Amino acid sequence: MIDHTRPNIARVYDAILGGKDNYAADRAVAAQTQRIVPEIRDVARDNRAMLGRAVRYMVKAGIRQLVDLGSGLPTAQNTHEVAQSVASDTRVVYVDNDPVVSAHGRALLAENDRTTVVTADLRRPKAVLDHPDLRAAIDFDRPVGMMLVSVIHYLNDNEDPTGIVRAYTNALAPGSHLFLTHFCAGTPEALALEQALLSGLGTGRFRSTKQIAAYFDGLDLVPPGVVHLPQWRPEGGVRRPLTIAQRLMVGGLARKPA
Ligand code: SAM
Repeated sequence: MIDHTRPNIARVYDAILGGKDNYAADRAVAAQTQRIVPEIRDVARDNRAMLGRAVRYMVKAGIRQLVDLGSGLPTAQNTHEVAQSVASDTRVVYVDNDPVVSAHGRALLAENDRTTVVTADLRRPKAVLDHPDLRAAIDFDRPVGMMLVSVIHYLNDNEDPTGIVRAYTNALAPGSHLFLTHFCAGTPEALALEQALLSGLGTGRFRSTKQIAAYFDGLDLVPPGVVHLPQWRPEGGVRRPLTIAQRLMVGGLARKPA
């Protein structure tokens, strides 16, 4: 049973992106974020655009298995669509703890036998990694692209986000990649947005670029490293200086060495 009266992370994000899978309570939180950062939709779009570039990078580098943790409601250019447009044999497992996200994903993917949807809480890496549907799709003896896109900032410090990310990367074979984006602290707008997410959704923890870069410790960062999203291997030119909105998130992609 969906509670429409309480805002929810996946639906607020959908509302910010301009999607249709959201309710008044979600739109109210989205509107609050837009009052703080009028270009908030660009932040979400930059995040999706970097997701597309990073997925293309991983598949072109030979990765044929992707695990998208905290995958969200289906939108334009979903991970499997991007990946399978580069190499049609790429297998994708979507993991989200929101049953509505899973239901939409399953409906979208009914006819795609290389894509799997798992309902699980990414804060329990062992349960996720041992999930029979994930194990059926992913061979952990071969390189995997592990994705944590715009989701680790919904984990509080006392939930040990570093340990959780590490549990996933420890399970990966050499040549695997970690792709992560995250809200970053350091501007008045970031502070106000963090407060709005905390009061609207009950969760939100923006971190410094240094803290976010530490999630990649032990891995080899793909140049240019952990940077603001539009600066990560842009396909067109980047306007400088970055806008306030463009400085709200950072992301990076790294390879696990042998
Ligand atoms: N990764 C997508 C993207 O970047 O476009 C969606 C990001 S959306 C902001 C965050 C998603 O993470 C939501 O769908 C939410 O349900 C999911 N999520 C939040 N906490 C989670 C958890 N503990 N386990 C699994 N999924 C989670």
